[in-house]
Amino acid sequence: MSTIFSKIIAREIPADIVYEDEHALAFRDINPVAPTHILVIPKKEIVNVGSIEPEDATLVGHLLSVCRKVAQQEGHEDFRVISNSGAGAGQSVFHLHFHVLAG
Ligand code: 5GP
Repeated sequence: MSTIFSKIIAREIPADIVYEDEHALAFRDINPVAPTHILVIPKKEIVNVGSIEPEDATLVGHLLSVCRKVAQQEGHEDFRVISNSGAGAGQSVFHLHFHVLAG
């Protein structure tokens, strides 16, 4: 199922993109809850942490390295990574994303 994040990947809707490579995209959260609040997502459509398959292990490791990269880009060595998995945990966009919070 496509979400608004697929539209951001396809550049169909705008976002403040801070990092991109073949497999990942990172952009500023539209409703930040910290001075640095960036979302790191895979270009592959994965619903949430609860639907990660064993074949996604390398990709997920890469996404975490992108979390560190974007935090450092913003000048933060210390940062928090959060991922809500499922509506009951507060997930509102059903495309895997890691919130990177710092500051
Ligand atoms: P969740 O609640 O699923 O863990 O997080 C979804 C996040 O996506 C929220 O923090 C929300 O502010 C952000 N978000 C929702 N729609 C958009 C959008 O169109 N653009 C951007 N940049 N962030 C969005």
